[in-house]
Amino acid sequence: MKYRSTRGKSSGLSFESAVLQGLAPDGGLYIPENIPQIPFSKLAEWSTLKYTELAYQVLRLFIDANEISDEDLKVIVEKSYSTFDTNEITPLKKLPNVTSDNLYVLELFHGPTFAFKDIALQFLGNLFEYFLMRKNSQKKPDEKKDFITVLGATSGDTGGAAIYGLRGKKNISVFILHPKGRVSNIQESQMTSVLDSNVYNVSVEGTFDDCQETVKALFSDPEFKSKYQLGAINSINWARILAQTVYYFYSYFNLLKKLNAELKADSKIENLPKIQFCVPSGNFGDILAGYYAVRMGLPADRLVIATNENDILYRFMQNGSYEKKKVGPNEPEVKQTLSPAMDILISSNFERLLWYLARGDGRVESASANAESEVKASNYINEWMQELKTKGGFTTPASVLENARTLFDSFNVTDEKTSETIGRYFHAKSGSYVLDPHTAVGVTAAEQMQKKNPIPTICLSTAHPGKFPEAVLPAINDFKEKINPKNVEYEDFAPTALVNLLGRPKRCTDVKTEGGNKEVAKKMIRLVIEETMKHY
Ligand SMILES: *Cc1c(COP(=O)(O)O)cnc(C)c1O
Repeated sequence: MKYRSTRGKSSGLSFESAVLQGLAPDGGLYIPENIPQIPFSKLAEWSTLKYTELAYQVLRLFIDANEISDEDLKVIVEKSYSTFDTNEITPLKKLPNVTSDNLYVLELFHGPTFAFKDIALQFLGNLFEYFLMRKNSQKKPDEKKDFITVLGATSGDTGGAAIYGLRGKKNISVFILHPKGRVSNIQESQMTSVLDSNVYNVSVEGTFDDCQETVKALFSDPEFKSKYQLGAINSINWARILAQTVYYFYSYFNLLKKLNAELKADSKIENLPKIQFCVPSGNFGDILAGYYAVRMGLPADRLVIATNENDILYRFMQNGSYEKKKVGPNEPEVKQTLSPAMDILISSNFERLLWYLARGDGRVESASANAESEVKASNYINEWMQELKTKGGFTTPASVLENARTLFDSFNVTDEKTSETIGRYFHAKSGSYVLDPHTAVGVTAAEQMQKKNPIPTICLSTAHPGKFPEAVLPAINDFKEKINPKNVEYEDFAPTALVNLLGRPKRCTDVKTEGGNKEVAKKMIRLVIEETMKHY
């Protein structure tokens, strides 16, 4: 499998180059040059595999064996998921029947930082280590060793997951930028309490998008990028999307079992239960993995994009315009909500979906997909991304929205609704389940989707509720119709590892940006990296 940029100027890259580069030199994102098709006969074989066996099968299709051998890939996959607290890796659970009996949660938070990002970042950390060790083992003893400086921005969960994926790894330094005061206490403690000498936390005055923009600017500076061998861990990295496609297949097979159905080599799609996925979305990485799974042949009926009030994706699905929110003079562009990992202005990974939509693909490949339509798609992407930069948005032709609607639906969810949903599922008569606020956004959207398409729905649960007590505790304790009047305490539902975090020693560098000035931010962060890496 080879990779190409959405903006059309690089193609024919190996998996290793696409992963190590992160962002393409033309500013685009890497996508596979084709999407492998999985026939039912293969899906039937996959349906009985353990998580790690399935992961190996899926990854193998996108990574050539001459890049990573069968044996090595198996080792990397096993190692990546050995840090999870359950053999199932991503268990699927039925939610109590509150408004519908069709809802399931896919718990993606059983990794070391209790967030779904561990699934991709444990894998990515091991990939980086593998590629570096191989390069360095081919060097003469007196030759300078290759290294990577991982640079990333986080709205909370990426940073922690990246740090846990890379801590202590040889020849890798990690710089994680987070917006000061805009990530939860626990997320902040989780990141800054990792004291390994290769981990550097930087707290930046400004928003997540400011941090992200700074990272993008440093990556598009060729001299800086090559001097420090920058590596990306943000959800633009192809390896992350790829690792996430696995749980769409795994949970589909799991749900079939719960519904007493079975996929066989000769199954007809119309005889299988229809199911759909609902995904709380921010940067569009998680649900994009679902898109690839469907394009590979996973028989899911719909993909539902759930957003909080930072709803650029929802608004796109309404009218085909992708536009930064217009706000009043004193209003912030990004609203702080109860689901901070989804507080984004624009969704970086959406560019990948747009490329397919512009080529004419929806849930299936356009009949006229060819080299010419690929050039056309890249031209559109270049034009749109330019407009996004200069005018804050762009409008797509009607066919693009039509293509999107062949598979996607979207709902936006207010904080008030999110809280209420957490309360309703905790105080459900038919059993109690504690939702984290991001998952609650998804479950609220899934309930709305039931009115339109009442079929079994897998709601992706992206974080353990113990990560977000600021949202969860009041939602449960101030709920109107409590079944148990006793107040719930943090320790009642939080994992001990999180409870013990808060008193630990921390290390972090503060960066002042003269009140969020982006140019100052870029300069300051460049300085921090140069100073730290001086002795390398
Ligand atoms: C990152 C994150 C999301 C959003 O995922 P995207 O891939 O950015 O769409 C949702 N919930 C939680 C808890 C997250 O950490």
